[in-house]
Amino acid sequence: MSKIWLDGKFVESSKAKVSVFDHGLLYGDGCFEGIRIYNGRILKLRSHLVRMFESAAAIRLQPGYSIDAIEEAVRETVKINQQKDGYIRLVFTRGKGTLGLNPFLCPTATVFIIVESIKLYPDEMYEDGMSIIVAKRPRVPAKCLDPQVKSLNYLNNILAKIEAIDAGVLEAIMLNLDGEVSECTGDNIFIVKDGAISTPPVSSGILNGITRRLVIEDIAPALEHSVNERTILLDEVLEADEVFLTGTACEVIGVSHIGEKVIGIGKVGPITHDFENQFRTMVAENAPED
Ligand code: PMP
Repeated sequence: MSKIWLDGKFVESSKAKVSVFDHGLLYGDGCFEGIRIYNGRILKLRSHLVRMFESAAAIRLQPGYSIDAIEEAVRETVKINQQKDGYIRLVFTRGKGTLGLNPFLCPTATVFIIVESIKLYPDEMYEDGMSIIVAKRPRVPAKCLDPQVKSLNYLNNILAKIEAIDAGVLEAIMLNLDGEVSECTGDNIFIVKDGAISTPPVSSGILNGITRRLVIEDIAPALEHSVNERTILLDEVLEADEVFLTGTACEVIGVSHIGEKVIGIGKVGPITHDFENQFRTMVAENAPED
């Protein structure tokens, strides 16, 4: 049984409980991060913590701990659970309050850290490529809810994920209200055409994923490629030679089909393969914690 860090104490997972009056539950009022542990190192821990505190500040949630205190708590939770490879879920909720929306009637945030194993997709998907669809539901525009805020309110993404599951696949491309490609329900998207790699810009209404940035800033240069951040239309994705997704949970994964359309050769393409391998080598050898 794993141990959960909950409001400053370690609790057995079966005893880790949050109140039914917590606004994280009542209204999805809170924020979270998913973080990976590779060979004892916590990939991009500082970047995740910075994003977490930026999400919290954007929704005017004060967790009641400094970023350094949360970093220490995360490291202690990894240590106590003896997890050399795994996944960390860090959550801040608004805390217990009344049955009204007012967040400022919740005096103390609830803070917890879960450390577990993770396997998002089966190995075959990394070898053969993944089938996805295009969701009918558009991504909530940034003007309504900034996608940089990794909030506990994921219903927009969950409803698109349900479309994917109904279609027999596990992921869906989401378009923004202007019909441009934004991202997938829990991953960022990249395309390769004639050797050139592109990904939608933050202005297309995406979460600026930490894995996305790692691919643009570290993995692509290490492979002597560059990534163009530009507006992408759906037809370009469907006509691409290769399509791949990035995220903390999925890492780097190739796409073989989008709906009925076969992408490129219908398998993981060579550039995607190189990116997957470079990512794996980097995290296995010495995952950067900055
Ligand atoms: N987009 C969305 C909507 C996400 O929820 C996530 C993370 N699960 C990503 C992209 C990928 O971001 P990261 O690489 O930081 O995990």
